[in-house]
Amino acid sequence: DGPVIIVGAGHGGYQVAASLRQAGFSQRICLINDEAHLPYQRPPLSKAYIKGSAGPESLMFRPEKFYQDQKIELIAGRAVSIDRAGHKVLLASGETLAYAHLVLATGARNRLLDLPNANLPDVKYLRILDESDALRAIMPSKSRVVVIGAGFIGLEFAATARIKGLEVDVLELAPRVMARAVTAEVSEYFQERHREAGIRVHLGVQATSIEAEGGKVTGVSLSDGRHLPADLVVVGVGVLPNIELAAEAGLPVAAGIIVDEYLSTADPDISAIGDCALFASPRFGGSLRLESVQNATDHARCLAARLTGDRKPYDSHPWFWSDQGDDKLQISGLTTGYDRVVLRGSAANKAFSAFCYKGETLLGIESINRAGDHMFGRRLQGMHRSITPAQAADESFDLKSALA
Ligand code: FAD
Repeated sequence: DGPVIIVGAGHGGYQVAASLRQAGFSQRICLINDEAHLPYQRPPLSKAYIKGSAGPESLMFRPEKFYQDQKIELIAGRAVSIDRAGHKVLLASGETLAYAHLVLATGARNRLLDLPNANLPDVKYLRILDESDALRAIMPSKSRVVVIGAGFIGLEFAATARIKGLEVDVLELAPRVMARAVTAEVSEYFQERHREAGIRVHLGVQATSIEAEGGKVTGVSLSDGRHLPADLVVVGVGVLPNIELAAEAGLPVAAGIIVDEYLSTADPDISAIGDCALFASPRFGGSLRLESVQNATDHARCLAARLTGDRKPYDSHPWFWSDQGDDKLQISGLTTGYDRVVLRGSAANKAFSAFCYKGETLLGIESINRAGDHMFGRRLQGMHRSITPAQAADESFDLKSALA
């Protein structure tokens, strides 16, 4: 019993605070926020927000009054160290906050490009609202962008830049786009769609340098000797989890802050959730670190339940989405480790799903413009059920019958 201090006011941090109050938690809650905005949703930063003209308030989870009414103290600033013995967090301002329970919801930060000229103003990243605002503001004055990295964020941005009339080149070191996250079938579909939109997708190549004149970007040189002209470079080469605060406090870290299946660190008074957490997963039999809204939000709910007396291991079903141009990709489950892919629907009709199996076990479903298949997957897998590969491939098989 006592104050809960939450470091990081992103998807996970906001949700812990809101869920604690919803569950009747009556002690002090402080949400330490190092961004100069009310807590906001990140996905639109590379989608609707950057494409449109809506103001930042369109992204906010809740207006300021919510935090006042709920007595959630939003504290502007950055946590710089944890005094575990004294149960205190030190902020950059010098202020200290006492905690009974500390939640690390520090998320992840952009992996920076280590190339000459990578710190010029025309080399941009896309993780936070200020970066999305900066890109939105300069795009109208730019004509050619090179996007480094064909992951979700790079491709979402590329599609938007093309719609806004820029010439777009995308560079990807892997032999296909989104290679770490989706099947070859889905990669190929998106490569084709982006090419149809006029985006040049270069696979198996790396940027070796960024050229500039008088501090302005003029182009990017590639590992295969080519040179692409550009007046803007956008980098989407992945993120690094923010683990330093935990590590410096002596908590075990690896590719994330190590937590058990209850999302507790080695210190029972400190938990970690969301993008920064490497959590033990009985469901998947190992440790996972996921970067998704579902993961951060469900972690937060699980932790808020534990802190209000309902202790259960984290066991939510993962899902994800990405909007690229006119296409909506939705993923149910974790599709890594599959040995067989069964397609339902048709890529030619721009609507299909890739059902990913290991043996006869359904691991996950990647759906393109097939929201019904996606929702089916979430319900089916949430029930720990499967359908056979033959059923998945058979369009006349009624998916709903598997949910009965
Ligand atoms: P975050 O939301 O990153 O929040 C962490 C916060 O902690 C940040 O504000 C950070 O500044 C702050 N912080 C860090 N250290 C400190 C400190 N020491 N003191 C105080 N504050 C600190 N996911 C999807 O599922 N679907 C999507 O379509 C999708 N699109 C995305 C598009 C973009 C452009 C980005 C960047 C991400 C997208 N994601 C998407 C991923 C999703 O947004 C993240 O998985 C989610 O935000 C993770 O929540 P989090 O709370 O763990 O971290």
